[in-house]
Amino acid sequence: MTGSDIAIIEVGLVDGLQSIEDFVPTAAKMQWISAEVAAGLRHMEVTSFVPAKLLPQFSDAEEVLAHALTLPGLGARVLIPNLKGAQRAVAAGARSLSYAFSVSEAHSHSNVRKSRDAQFADFVGIMEFRRSLEPARRPYVSVGFATSFGCSIQGTVSERDVVDFACRFVEAGADDIALADTVGYATPHQVTRVVRSVRTEIGERLKGIHLHDTRGLGLANAVAALDEGIREIDASLGGLGGCPFAPGATGNIVLEDLVYMVEAMGFRTGVNLESLLELRRWVTGLLAGDPMRGNIVRAGLPKTFKVTS
Ligand code: ZN
Repeated sequence: MTGSDIAIIEVGLVDGLQSIEDFVPTAAKMQWISAEVAAGLRHMEVTSFVPAKLLPQFSDAEEVLAHALTLPGLGARVLIPNLKGAQRAVAAGARSLSYAFSVSEAHSHSNVRKSRDAQFADFVGIMEFRRSLEPARRPYVSVGFATSFGCSIQGTVSERDVVDFACRFVEAGADDIALADTVGYATPHQVTRVVRSVRTEIGERLKGIHLHDTRGLGLANAVAALDEGIREIDASLGGLGGCPFAPGATGNIVLEDLVYMVEAMGFRTGVNLESLLELRRWVTGLLAGDPMRGNIVRAGLPKTFKVTS
């Protein structure tokens, strides 16, 4: 049987490391990226172009990206918070940018001290900057919609808002939109509903989903998204990445558990799980306090498991 492909995007180097205070040496970040590519990962968010003053963890963004760009077969995406970040990223050779936008007004103010409309205006500025570049240097730009399924500050996030902003961003030039369950509020039927509503308006421009496992529903939500035709899913090695608004809460869905699940469902990821688990042990040693979790790492693969080819 030949399975269809799924793009699993490792976000541990950004979403994961941003909650870790100790600076992870640049050489270790590079080694992590290389090892993950060797394990078959083809998509990674490798660093963030936030001001180093705000998050010193990413003061080496240029160097880390430069390394990632040398690895054949890797689609290296970088996070950008604003126009300045976009300019730095492009100057450093970035080909794929991810802009973070909060659909919750309260989260937007708390996270970047701006209204949603101000965040949108910033994005329009980034699109103008992109148009000013020679065509060959224009990066691909996706927009991650934080708090698409609820917000720990304001509670409900209106589905209408998610759909309306998705339309506005696509009209402004976004290449694709990814919905993020930043605080782990999503439930499977809600994922189905929101994905359908957004797809009704922007179709295939809704590409990815970013899920947190805060309440244990991460993989169930991933199945709901897969059933709706989503084929790009963010995850992080060992589920690295806590939520800044819920201390102690678990973070992103676990990369190795997700690979196991989708391969068992007949999708193809190209990832070698044994190599990934080996890398996970190395990264665990790298980070103090063992912030990683996961089930496959504890229980091992079942005898019945076969990689999809
Ligand atoms: Zn996350």
